[in-house]
Amino acid sequence: MENYKKIKDGWFSETCYMWPGVSLSLEIEQVLYSKKSKFQQIDVYQTRNHGKMLVLDGIIQLTESDEFAYQEMLAHVPLFAHPTPENVLVIGGGDGGILREVGRHDCVKTIDFCEIDEDVITVSKEFLPELACGFDDPRVNIRIGDGNAYVQEQKNKYDVIIVDSSDPIGPGEVLFKRPFYEGLKAALRKKGIIATQGESFFLHKECVTNLVRITKELFSVSAYSYILVPTYPGGHIGICLGSLGSNLKMPCRNIPETLQEQLKYYSPQIHEASFVLPYFAQKMFETV
Ligand code: SAM
Repeated sequence: MENYKKIKDGWFSETCYMWPGVSLSLEIEQVLYSKKSKFQQIDVYQTRNHGKMLVLDGIIQLTESDEFAYQEMLAHVPLFAHPTPENVLVIGGGDGGILREVGRHDCVKTIDFCEIDEDVITVSKEFLPELACGFDDPRVNIRIGDGNAYVQEQKNKYDVIIVDSSDPIGPGEVLFKRPFYEGLKAALRKKGIIATQGESFFLHKECVTNLVRITKELFSVSAYSYILVPTYPGGHIGICLGSLGSNLKMPCRNIPETLQEQLKYYSPQIHEASFVLPYFAQKMFETV
């Protein structure tokens, strides 16, 4: 992967063959970290207006200014759709942001976590403590390894599985394939729910329709939700959801007022609204 040296005249520009002809640029004040791990190039930048930014193999993973949108929705949509989530698995998400959000649910008893690259965790703990605080939760059990290999060994164990994966390039590729989704299904308990990073219905039509097809075929209930995130390509990203029985499109538990007050993006209203897709996307998924 040779696409990570992308700074020119103080601007970082993200380009990727997955979204050709499109580039998002952020003004950079300082390079805080830049090193290749066993799996990928890891960079952390101080941006001018968006706080710190984590970049893997040249692709923006998060900025401090808008990370809450992605972390809150990917965690709280499946967790509030489940009546009693007790055992949760998080795959990927080495920055800790999803763990932070899962940890806000008192009913959750265990949070297993499987990330392939230990260096992402170490770097996040040093530079992104507001996300990496998720690792401080005593319910979190950390495993370092490939999420697919881990999932294939788990049977009938989890109420909710959240896949906070990077894009289907490099180590994340396996997490977008059918055998992984079959493993996710087998790892779920009755009424279990999966929620996976679902890319963009504008920019990654083939990838998204493939994920939707797989979840439709494997799960009795499936749905696709989307989130506004200004620093992802196209300004948005999807969540691909599958369930063994629980309804997905509405929260089935009330959100405590104290929790609602801690959040910036998720609410019961946006939970429902996030499943209302633009007409072309609705048609695209209906015909899959
Ligand atoms: N929201 C982010 C995005 O797509 O822009 C994803 C953030 S999170 C940092 C992605 C994590 O997935 C990375 O830390 C990466 O190391 C991890 N990852 C990639 N492939 C993996 C695999 N096969 N098993 C477990 N973790 C994986």
